[in-house]
Amino acid sequence: MDLAQGPHVLTWELTRACGLKCRHCRANAIPKRNSRELSLPEVLEVLDDIATRFSPPPLMVFTGGDPLERSDLSDILRASVARGLHTAVSPSVTPLLTKKVLEEWKAIGVKTVSISIDGPSAEVHDGFRRVDGTFRDSLARAREVRELGMSLQVNTSVCGETLAGMPAMGDLVKVLGVTSWEVFFVVPTGRGRVLPKLTAPETESTLQWLAQYSQTVSFRVTSIAAPQYRRLILENVPGAPYPKFPAIREAQGFAFIDHLGEVCPSGYLPVPAGNVRRSPLSTIYRESALFRQLRDPDLLRGRCGACEYKRICGGSRARAYAVTGDLQGEDPACPHVPEGAPERPLTVLPVHA
Ligand code: SF4
Repeated sequence: MDLAQGPHVLTWELTRACGLKCRHCRANAIPKRNSRELSLPEVLEVLDDIATRFSPPPLMVFTGGDPLERSDLSDILRASVARGLHTAVSPSVTPLLTKKVLEEWKAIGVKTVSISIDGPSAEVHDGFRRVDGTFRDSLARAREVRELGMSLQVNTSVCGETLAGMPAMGDLVKVLGVTSWEVFFVVPTGRGRVLPKLTAPETESTLQWLAQYSQTVSFRVTSIAAPQYRRLILENVPGAPYPKFPAIREAQGFAFIDHLGEVCPSGYLPVPAGNVRRSPLSTIYRESALFRQLRDPDLLRGRCGACEYKRICGGSRARAYAVTGDLQGEDPACPHVPEGAPERPLTVLPVHA
């Protein structure tokens, strides 16, 4: 598919309200809904645009905050499925997520449910999510998703606090019977700004481990906010083919709609390119200066700009922006030094406010 014409994955933050208080929350989620959230008629109008103007249409991921905080969530999911969109939900594990809710989603036609598990024990996961019992409940809901015959995706956030648990997490996702495991390399945005960051060598060794692990399992293993995973696959998996397409990353096969309708390159990169209340999403995705700029590898700077992998990787634009303030700067989590590039990262500015 032509990633300049439409996203492969569209993540939609329906609300920022959430009963959890996760330490890494990029959304700075809050207990109550914002009265200016997109209304149901506005959501339906955007779904019409998505279904008619993107071909093929993107995988829809409805998230939050906690999307279950919206009483019209079932109507939104039904409308998405009715428009022929592959529909996934990424709820928070709170008392709102019950087996009955999962059964309803199954009946509506939801294909995939994502459950976040950040560590292989209650101590790690509940400490991260800051609500006791969340680990136990997450395992229970994950098993129910499988029993109901929906695809189970587990999302794991990796940062300095969860890094040590990764090998045991790899064992846990195997036991849970996931369809895919998405490993999010935490970008210092929102509440996650104060979490211990991975160093570039730690990121590299984690991705190396992930590349090798992915060869031992039959489900999909992906990295979020670490597109250099593709370089690591090429370097660590004998015979891995050189990718034909660029990485799915910010504004390039991926887009994010926030709870107020702002369209951003990703949830980790909260810089709006337009608002669905004023312009169609399809127009913003294809034509906005920000999205076009982020898709152009020739505009990259620093080591990413000099890199032989820039057309298939391009670095995390979200991390470059969060750490250096430069949307086109090098990704500080990647230690790769291309020929002719400066050996050390360019000047790192204070974390962007
Ligand atoms: S230097 Fe940038 S483009 Fe090259 S592999 Fe690292 S993150 Fe990717």
